[in-house]
Amino acid sequence: MPLTRRDFLQGLGAGSAGLAIRPPLGARGLDDAPTFDGPSRFSRSTGPIQLDRNENPNGPGRHVLEAIRAAFGEASRYPDDPEEALRQAIAKAHGVEPDWVLLGCGSTETLRVGVLAFCRADRPLVTAAPTFEEPVRMATALKVPVTEVPVDKAMRLDLEAMARAAGANSAGLIFCCNPNNPTATVHGTAAIRDFLSRTHNASPETTVLVDEAYHDFVEDPSYATAIPLVMDDPRVVISRTFSKVYGLAGFRIGFAIARPETITAMRPWRVGNGINLGAAAGAVAAMGAPDHIRAELRSAREVKAFTRRFFEGLGYRVEPSETNFIMVDIRRDSKLFKETCLARGVAVGRQFPQFKQHTRISIGSMEEMEQATRIFRAILATS
Ligand code: PMP
Repeated sequence: MPLTRRDFLQGLGAGSAGLAIRPPLGARGLDDAPTFDGPSRFSRSTGPIQLDRNENPNGPGRHVLEAIRAAFGEASRYPDDPEEALRQAIAKAHGVEPDWVLLGCGSTETLRVGVLAFCRADRPLVTAAPTFEEPVRMATALKVPVTEVPVDKAMRLDLEAMARAAGANSAGLIFCCNPNNPTATVHGTAAIRDFLSRTHNASPETTVLVDEAYHDFVEDPSYATAIPLVMDDPRVVISRTFSKVYGLAGFRIGFAIARPETITAMRPWRVGNGINLGAAAGAVAAMGAPDHIRAELRSAREVKAFTRRFFEGLGYRVEPSETNFIMVDIRRDSKLFKETCLARGVAVGRQFPQFKQHTRISIGSMEEMEQATRIFRAILATS
């Protein structure tokens, strides 16, 4: 049974009286750990239904919360060992050695590190539009020039144009978000392979960062992770996160996989010990329970299908989605729609300049979507 958000928050905030979670004690375990006085200030259960940030509405699962609480006894220690344990677990899961893995404070840090390590004033960033913006934010702060290549008519990354742009500009880095946020489209392995070879031909010095934040949600059989493509190619970096299906957005854990020499070029830019103790313990526990992740994916698919049917039933087009969010053509200004939804207690994604009539809706729990769709129905009927 997935936890509801309320269970999850109560788990985090439980005081010694109504303890929802009783973890196994470690060498110095829960007895030495601070307790919370519930109800906790983490609680957001009174706020809007959050369908705006592509999180897992169920949280990470009790086994993960237990592991996090069991780690509290080590709170006074720098987290070198837990970080190393996480790095090793990730390496093992992906069939590489630990020196192929770089941890980050969310994959946000990993993407920033990519720009810091590979871009300069004369080695620009090439990215898509729209796509996840963190690399552009970092490049802009560093005064690194940016080339944004519009997605095509089917809302897919225009990989050929991105490779050409890298060649024309001697790019330091191409950011390739696959599946892409916010458009939810994906490219299959053959297309990514072709893109890498085009890029290398056009611009041999360019590094390609493939962001696979939504990897777990993909159903398209032509897709597979690009991790095997880094094996003998130092110009490719794959980025992943624990913020999506793993339900750990609040603990901030991401990572890159690349060849050791590429990781070595990136490492100086990351925050040392940037993975906190609870995050490391939670992520290791999460990786140890693949059945739980499979169940989360099944439930996300069911809720996504329910949401798609709802909009299509009302005659609205829902774009193909390989992620835990959907883009819906609501045939009206999506900024106004967002504001109206928020006023009625539902947060949906922001408007993207390229798609002014599309709203991006993250997949919540079934209970949340049932409530939210009632509100959407009322808003769409009136405005
Ligand atoms: N990449 C993509 C494509 C995202 O959508 C997000 C966040 N929504 C991130 C990276 C960053 O996530 P985090 O820092 O939580 O890992």
